[in-house]
Amino acid sequence: MSFKVLISGFGHESNTFSPFSTQKKDFRIIKETPEFVQKTIDLANIQNIEIKQAGLMNIMTGGKISENDFEELLNEMLTQIKKELPFNGLLLRMHGGMEVENLGHGTTEVLKRIRKLVGEETLISCYLDLHGNIPKEFEKYVNIVSALRTAPHVDRIETFQRSAKLLFDSLNNKSTPKTVVIPIPMIFPGEKVITDVEPGKSLYAKLKLIDKKPNILASSLMVGFAWADVKQAGSSVIVSAEDYDTARSEALELARTFWNQRKNFDFDCETMEVKKAIKLANDDPKTVFISDSGDNVTAGAAGDICEVLDELIKQKIKNTVFAQIYDEEAVMLCKKNGLGSEIEFYLGGKLDTLFGKPYKVKGKVKKISKVGNIETIIFQIDGIDLLITKERFPLRTVQEFEELGIDLLSKNIVVVKLGYLYPPLEEIAPRAIMAFSTGPACQKIEKFSYKNIRRPIFPLDYDMVWDANK
Ligand SMILES: [Zn+2]
Repeated sequence: MSFKVLISGFGHESNTFSPFSTQKKDFRIIKETPEFVQKTIDLANIQNIEIKQAGLMNIMTGGKISENDFEELLNEMLTQIKKELPFNGLLLRMHGGMEVENLGHGTTEVLKRIRKLVGEETLISCYLDLHGNIPKEFEKYVNIVSALRTAPHVDRIETFQRSAKLLFDSLNNKSTPKTVVIPIPMIFPGEKVITDVEPGKSLYAKLKLIDKKPNILASSLMVGFAWADVKQAGSSVIVSAEDYDTARSEALELARTFWNQRKNFDFDCETMEVKKAIKLANDDPKTVFISDSGDNVTAGAAGDICEVLDELIKQKIKNTVFAQIYDEEAVMLCKKNGLGSEIEFYLGGKLDTLFGKPYKVKGKVKKISKVGNIETIIFQIDGIDLLITKERFPLRTVQEFEELGIDLLSKNIVVVKLGYLYPPLEEIAPRAIMAFSTGPACQKIEKFSYKNIRRPIFPLDYDMVWDANK
């Protein structure tokens, strides 16, 4: 018998401290076959499984989604899925950290509505990012869950394939796997849980061994996402198995192991306040990369806060590249005035009006260029090459800087709107400092006045006790 499997997905990581909301226009329906899907299609073909794609949507991390926009997007997705009915399996690419105004956890809501549409007979295999906040209820709507096992993420394709293979095998074996979610009362800024650094390294190494145990399909350690003030914010363990009891006992044991390591997670790089980071970087003869971590675009911040830029200017820093401020109006203004023009204007603070504010800059339009197809200006303020981009995205590879003609290692300081450096930058960085800058992705999570998360929770209630069985 041959089976039909549908690929779909609706991913978002929502930072609820970000003052801007993510809108429908920010999402795009992926029509072409994305790189991470191709190998799965090849695998399906080998196994003689008919495979289709419908309504796969993706977007970068941002503020939470408005209820209306979410409903419209979800309906669009469900309509596309409906057209493909009936099918035997659904392979979903989700994130796990989607939050919707008034509705709450968007990821669970999507799964709930899909389950209602496809019925109990259809197997659902779900791919998640390990930074998703997963409530217990989620387990009711899925059969199999496979989450990423690397942070920074380098195993997206592999994880998607694993989700697919487990689904195909279950269809062929005529089994109906069950999933158990064990939420754990602890939150971490993502930068404290790096998967090739202890204790994350040993914990994540356990997963492959657990997967090999009898009747177990997949095990996942969810770090969670601390920049969401919601009741389900926090870590969790997810295990999928042939039966519920096997999944539950394995998940409980893994949850206890994860919990016991909570006090051992720490930042893997130098961390300090902005002022000190810039001073130290300037005194260092090597190139120093500074992460403007509070305004980390990959954690949902706007990327238009000028705090670190202001400090560079105040300390009269030279030979520096600042990547970057997202400001569409500023890009247009620089283009209008033209190459070589000297202008003064208010920069940034337009999307993040809570942590940032428009900041007066004066300098020269040094270059009008592009990164990929995104218009980018190099605006020179004395010794600082400030990059201003027309769209909100993080610069995170050497190649992106090369496109602008910037040789990173010839600079004294390179500032990026990231938390941890992404592997391509980390590999070349002689020294990296994560600066505790202001913003909705501030690493000092104790500074936020959480109102909705469950209490007690580690580390806010540092010495709390927790019993996984309760
Ligand atoms: Zn992530």
